[in-house]
Amino acid sequence: MIKKIHKDSFDGFLRFKSLKKFYRITGRKKHVQTAEKNNVKLKKLIKKKSNQEFRKCQVCGSKKKEIIFEKNGFIHVKCEYCSFIYVDPILKPKVQEKTLKKENSYINVLKNKINIQLDNLRFRYGLQKLNINRKNKKILDFGTGYGLFLDNAKKYNWDCYGYEINKDCMKILQKKKMNIDNSFKKNFYDAITLWLVFEHIPYPNKLLKKIYLSLKKGGKLLINVPNVNSLSSLILKDKCTMFSGSQHVNHFSDNTLEMILKKNNFRLKSMETIISDAGTVLNHLNFGKTNTKKFTFTEPKFIHNHKLGYTLLAIAEKK
Ligand SMILES: [Zn+2]
Repeated sequence: MIKKIHKDSFDGFLRFKSLKKFYRITGRKKHVQTAEKNNVKLKKLIKKKSNQEFRKCQVCGSKKKEIIFEKNGFIHVKCEYCSFIYVDPILKPKVQEKTLKKENSYINVLKNKINIQLDNLRFRYGLQKLNINRKNKKILDFGTGYGLFLDNAKKYNWDCYGYEINKDCMKILQKKKMNIDNSFKKNFYDAITLWLVFEHIPYPNKLLKKIYLSLKKGGKLLINVPNVNSLSSLILKDKCTMFSGSQHVNHFSDNTLEMILKKNNFRLKSMETIISDAGTVLNHLNFGKTNTKKFTFTEPKFIHNHKLGYTLLAIAEKK
């Protein structure tokens, strides 16, 4: 048996008691600086009509929307029917891919030792939530990167498969002798996981259909996405880091995430939030003050009890 993981153990701010330290120590500070430079390029690209692609609401299908704000040149809208928040227009996927290939500063965060320690705990927490104990259980991690999640799944006796199109990542996966499945084997998996990738997918229903066919009956889907109704996004609004402009094109709440899962024939098993992001909120509320105040609503327990954490963690089952 592996020791039970508590979600506060992989909450960077809680671990280091300082947001600044957490950003510096995990290499996030550098990444933020590089991303800002990149945003200038992306802002120019989205202004060109030939690069724009308009979408309808991916949750309810409506085309009626209101503009809520613009960030880094990208317009964020809210569906008038279901309140789903999304970027419209987005960069045409081909244009987006081209620019992303050159932007790899987040890789340094992923390779950072302390970040790996925290991610390992977060991944094991997810594996415990999946709670599948049968023999020969198979798991596919979509957008697995270097396969850090799968390294953890192996320790929990999973037969591991990764979906990854990045060539550098694929080389490392092959070195690790990890199975690669970029075609979604049919009726094959006991679980499929999406760690912070769903918000990047322009057409999430298409992906959910493929996942549905790839899971066995009763198979489980784990989705971890930024929570648009988190305390930090409610307080910081467009200044919240989850609104990145070009990269995060869909912004789910617990409601809209549940809706899109139901629409695609999944049964929701559990929904919670992880990562309090309390440090960002406290910094914002105490801006410029010498005697910093604490607030009960920034305590992690309160935040997670009210599903106000920075990301959502949902487990759903194929009907
Ligand atoms: Zn809608």
